[in-house]
Amino acid sequence: MSLQVYIDGKLLPKEEAKISVFDHGLLYGDGVFEGIRVYNKKVFLIQEHIDRLYESALAIRLEIPLSKEEMVEAINETVAANKIENGYIRLVITRGAGSLGLDIRRTSNPQVIIIADNISLYDPQLYIDGLKIITAATIRNHPAALSSRVKSLNYLNNILAKIEGTDAGCIEALMLNHKGEVAECTGDNIFIVKNGVLKTPSVDAGILEGITRNAVIRLAEQSGITVDQSPFTRHDIFVADECFLTGSAAEVIPVVELDGRQIGTGKPGPMTKDLNEKFKQLTRE
Ligand code: PMP
Repeated sequence: MSLQVYIDGKLLPKEEAKISVFDHGLLYGDGVFEGIRVYNKKVFLIQEHIDRLYESALAIRLEIPLSKEEMVEAINETVAANKIENGYIRLVITRGAGSLGLDIRRTSNPQVIIIADNISLYDPQLYIDGLKIITAATIRNHPAALSSRVKSLNYLNNILAKIEGTDAGCIEALMLNHKGEVAECTGDNIFIVKNGVLKTPSVDAGILEGITRNAVIRLAEQSGITVDQSPFTRHDIFVADECFLTGSAAEVIPVVELDGRQIGTGKPGPMTKDLNEKFKQLTRE
């Protein structure tokens, strides 16, 4: 059976799920989205994703044509129709079709698109060995231009950094902010460990407020670990004891090298492993 995609209030085979070439999501990146995991048929941290989606939409003055409750129902329906047990959901809201030009008043019919599919995971060996990453020359967009907390369809900033990463043979790349401080990676948040303290940039650094990030912070705090959300630099990563990334797709993945400098022992560290284990337990609950 073909994948069933939720679009315009209906589930349609993927070949028939189409949007207008005049949709402002396509023409201008005018829309918002979420990437969500399904574990054991259950949508993971669904309320957090729904809340972030509606906050992103509010920030760009996009009215989602479904209530939050209806959205949860539509997501669950799409997951069930595709018999997804462990997979990934891409939830996209576009501004809808309109005339050429930026005026949102000349658009109508925002589109709600829900794709639930199996996920192609990173090579499991990377979780054992850890990633080697580089710092991209492309800095993260200035948050005063477009808040990085809005998960918008405009991902070019991150795509440009990702190109630098793949050119260097890395699956992730670090992005600094306009002040030269560590922000995040192209699709993941970043953490370091130094002398038993867990550090991650605060949302003011111009990052997406990752839902996996927040879950890991909660797990750390529940274990009595001090979590410091203050600015740090690339140098702090070079001299850190441990480093890892978090994201819905990547989950918790260790980083063992940045720009040719070995981090800590060059192997995933004990706090990384412990938080990864606790995160796995959370996804199994
Ligand atoms: N930062 C960026 C730029 C992202 O795109 C993502 C997720 N795709 C993340 C961080 C991680 O966020 P989350 O844990 O909510 O998936």
